[in-house]
Order: sequence, then C-alpha cells, then structure tokens
Amino acid sequence: MSDAVIDAPQARVAGQQGTALLELSDLHVSYGKTAALHGVNLSVYPGEVVALIGANGAGKTTTLRAISGLLKPTRGDIRFKGSSIAGLSADKVVALGIAQSPEERHVWPTMTVDENLSMGAYLCKSKVEVERRMGIVYHRFPRLKERHRQLAGTLSGGEQQMLAIGRALMSEPTLLLLDEPSLGLSPRMADEVFAFVREINAHGVTVVLVEQNVHNALNVASRAYVFETGRVVADRDAQSLKQDPELLSAYLGA
Ligand code: ATP
Repeated sequence: MSDAVIDAPQARVAGQQGTALLELSDLHVSYGKTAALHGVNLSVYPGEVVALIGANGAGKTTTLRAISGLLKPTRGDIRFKGSSIAGLSADKVVALGIAQSPEERHVWPTMTVDENLSMGAYLCKSKVEVERRMGIVYHRFPRLKERHRQLAGTLSGGEQQMLAIGRALMSEPTLLLLDEPSLGLSPRMADEVFAFVREINAHGVTVVLVEQNVHNALNVASRAYVFETGRVVADRDAQSLKQDPELLSAYLGA
C-alpha cells in the first residue's frame, strides 16, 4: 500500500484522462460448457473506485475471479498496466499488484489475526517487511490491532470482513478487488467497512467493488458498470446512476 496520500476525487478525474490501469476487452469466461461472461468490456483508471452491480448471477464475481487469475478466459483480454494478464496464475497476478478480498470473507478461523495477515504477504520473504506492512494495516484498523492475538473465527462478522480486506492489503496491491464486502453485516458495520474502503482509496489504492447493496456501492464508487446475464449493459457515473431509478429497477429490481 502506498503511503502517498492521493485525493481520490482528483485522482479519478486525472486518471480518466490517462491510461487505464485495468482494461477488459471482449472477455468471455465459461464454467465447463456453460458460458458465464459473453464479451465484457470495461476500464478502470488509477485512483478510481468502480462498482460492478447487477442481479444475482449477472457475472460480477466471475469477472473478479477472471481478473485475479482464478478463472481462465475462453476469449478476450485482460490488460493491467498495459500488459496482458489473461491466463496468468493467481500467484503471478498478486505479484503484479492485484489482490482480491473474496465473497464471504474466507478468513482462516483457527489462525490468529496476526497469522491471517501474514498469509496475505506470502510472496514477501522479509520478516521485517511483513511486520512493516502489518503495522500499516493495524494503523488503519485499530480494532484489528486490539485483537491481534485473537482467533479469526471468534471475531464479529464486520471484524472478519476488515481482516479479509486487511489481508488483501498485505500484498500492497495497486488494485484491490472487493467482492460483497457488506454481505451479512449490520448497517452500522457495513458503514464502517465502506468508510474503510474510502480511506484505502484515499491512500492511492484503486478499487473494483462488487456489491449487492446498490445504494452503498454508488455512494462509494465514482463510476459503475451494470451487468446483466454476463454482459455490461450500462457504464455510468455513479451520481447519475443513483438518479436513474428506471434503469436501476430494470436491471436490479432496486
Ligand atoms: P451473485 O451476486 O449471486 O454472486 P454474480 O453477478 O456475482 O452473482 P456470478 O457468480 O459471476 O454472478 O455467476 C455468473 C453465472 O455463472 C451464473 O449463471 C452462475 O450460475 C454461474 N456460475 C457461477 N459460479 C459457477 C460455478 N462454480 N459453476 C458453474 N456455474 C457457475
């Protein structure tokens, strides 16, 4: 995680005039013989928070899993910092600067908070460096620091979500992929998690956010892509999308 503080709204505006950090073109992904993505195109610029929204099964998680190297595209390309990463292993994608915090958190319940965070920096061989990164995460997440020796399975849902995001930050990503960070959380905890996402972004990390709670997603993101049955059907500024209830109810039933 860069310590350079970037003003996020300015970064978004500046970024969109420059080169995309991430670019998906004509992306097709299948599960066996079943096609899940049918030619997705999207771009994310440095400093943005971009939301992917859409009904259940629209292809949002599949898109994140393809970016992070967990699924291989059957057609199309994924470019990160100008180079193709389509088909690279998940390890290589992490090493290039992309980290994913998966849906339903998936922290290791019988490991401590410290141990879970260390696992996020598994590519880093220097203990001193791992401790430095942990210090940054704990600085941003004092509540995790208070519980650093506690088993992750005993944390509240919101704390586990913060731990999952903190673990993703341990690889010092340029691009953070967040899948349903508010899933199962109380509104208060969800607010805390979204405030944290804003803070991470303000420190220079670009974020792609998949979120069922459209209201929260559009409050955090500057732009959103609307997915329907494996395709992008709209790409809009978050503010204008918020004011378009017809479009939201057409695709999301919101
Ligand atoms: P949700 O919010 O419900 O997770 P989503 O927009 O993230 O929805 P995906 O999970 O990407 O949607 O699913 C896209 C399509 O791929 C759906 O038709 C889904 O049934 C299918 N799919 C997802 N995972 C698998 C899998 N492991 N095996 C087979 N099909 C899958």
